Amino acid sequence: MISELAEKLFIDGSWRQGEGGRIPVENPATGGIIGHIAAATPVEIDAAVAAARKAFKSWSRLPSVERSKALKRLGDAIAAEVDGMARTMTLEQGKPLNEAKGEILKLAEACHFYAEEAVRIHGEIIPNTTNDHESLVVREPIGVVGAITPWNYPAELIGWKLCAALAAGCTIIIKPAELTPFTALAIARMAENAQIPPGVVNVLTGPGSKVGQAMVEHPGIDKIAFTGSSAVGLRIQQSCPTIKRLSLELGGNCPLIVTASANLDAAVKGAVRRSFRNMGQICIAINRIYVHRSIEAEFLQKLRAAAEKLVIGNGIERPDADLGAMASAEPLNKTKEHLADALAKGARLVTGGSAPEGEAFAHGHFFRPTVVAGCTHAMKVMSEETFGPLVGVMAFDGVAEAIERANDTPYGLASYVYSKDMDEVRYISARLDYGNVAVNNVDAGIMNAPYGGRKQSGVGYEHGREGMLEYLNFKHIRIRYDEPKVTER
Ligand code: NAD
Repeated sequence: MISELAEKLFIDGSWRQGEGGRIPVENPATGGIIGHIAAATPVEIDAAVAAARKAFKSWSRLPSVERSKALKRLGDAIAAEVDGMARTMTLEQGKPLNEAKGEILKLAEACHFYAEEAVRIHGEIIPNTTNDHESLVVREPIGVVGAITPWNYPAELIGWKLCAALAAGCTIIIKPAELTPFTALAIARMAENAQIPPGVVNVLTGPGSKVGQAMVEHPGIDKIAFTGSSAVGLRIQQSCPTIKRLSLELGGNCPLIVTASANLDAAVKGAVRRSFRNMGQICIAINRIYVHRSIEAEFLQKLRAAAEKLVIGNGIERPDADLGAMASAEPLNKTKEHLADALAKGARLVTGGSAPEGEAFAHGHFFRPTVVAGCTHAMKVMSEETFGPLVGVMAFDGVAEAIERANDTPYGLASYVYSKDMDEVRYISARLDYGNVAVNNVDAGIMNAPYGGRKQSGVGYEHGREGMLEYLNFKHIRIRYDEPKVTER
């Protein structure tokens, strides 16, 4: 699949050999180059915008049932190609093949979910102060969407934007991360297989600072749907030269609170899954754990044992591994930097702290799941997003203290609580200043409930009905009626 997609752009329903410079894409498990992509030129960006604008005229006017059928076909096409698409993702991102398959199937699920939502775009009739007026509130698609996405979930993070936008009647130009462009191009291939009309879905590859920024500044793009770092999100917000709708799904620094009443085994299982899955490269990864002092020693001992059981491997050769390679040297170096900072400031290494040994790991970006204890908020592991397989642990004495520490961050994406005391659950979850709170589980996002961050974690929602509303404008049509001349019989 990769060789077919290399150096191509998908514009107006056709594949074009890109005319800009070439960027290599690496397999992070081996360091080998799997292919090159083309950096879209200003002419190609204009062509994609023109195609999306032209397609918007007909796509937005299509009966919603037809858009629904198209999304259903897209979901079916993706599910049918799960093996090839997952392999493409593992080769460029590093996650184990079985996990990549799961992500592709969730992309298909997003298509099917929004296929159903597409037929439920309705409005309201609002009473006026007099009977001769009526207010209709209708919803209309915003227009052309520029979707700019990161590399950690290369399929799902495109899917939530693509499916909600298409359901609403928008057209889209996708600019994937430089590290994981082939998954996005593979999605375009599926759009082609599903006979989505030309221009409705377009994919441009290239550097964020050039291609992404050009999309942000382009007068022909009506909305930017961005997922990525808070720094780039802020830059996008500040550099929009015209008023544009924005949704920004940004970074996190997510806490887990484990109270004295928690089911300890369940808390450990959740902590390991959400700290280390995808090598911690998840915006909703648990970065910091606050555990009640009375259970700290037992919690750490169990957490260490569970972390050391995780199997790390090359995601293609070990499809069932728990963890693959990290996506690039950058998050790996940041993980090492945060670890060194914590240890220098007095944290204790509980487990991990180095790369796994052996030839199989010699050329890729691997690191062992790492836990540090005795942490303070002066340490980067507790105050910044690591985006790697490192978690910091700190003991607390009272629930109020745990909540205060959990909220002591500029971020507000997801938070987690383990407690068997329902009064405690209610008290804590009401006070956590986060868009998502998961209690006695660590899966903070589901397809049919809104998902979004607060504070520096962003604005807007994905998933659920709310995710589709982000692509719609409200229009108020206020009509005055005259009494008709009706002859009474
Ligand atoms: P990033 O911000 O570096 O890049 C994201 C995308 O923005 C890429 O496609 C990149 O090319 C593009 N980009 C870079 N500079 C740009 C510019 N000036 N204008 C327009 N586009 C530009 O993020 P990343 O390193 O790819 O991803 C990791 C980050 O994403 C983490 O902070 C993580 O928390 C966040 N994230 C958030 C969510 C969420 O739902 N809130 C989900 C996943 C990842």
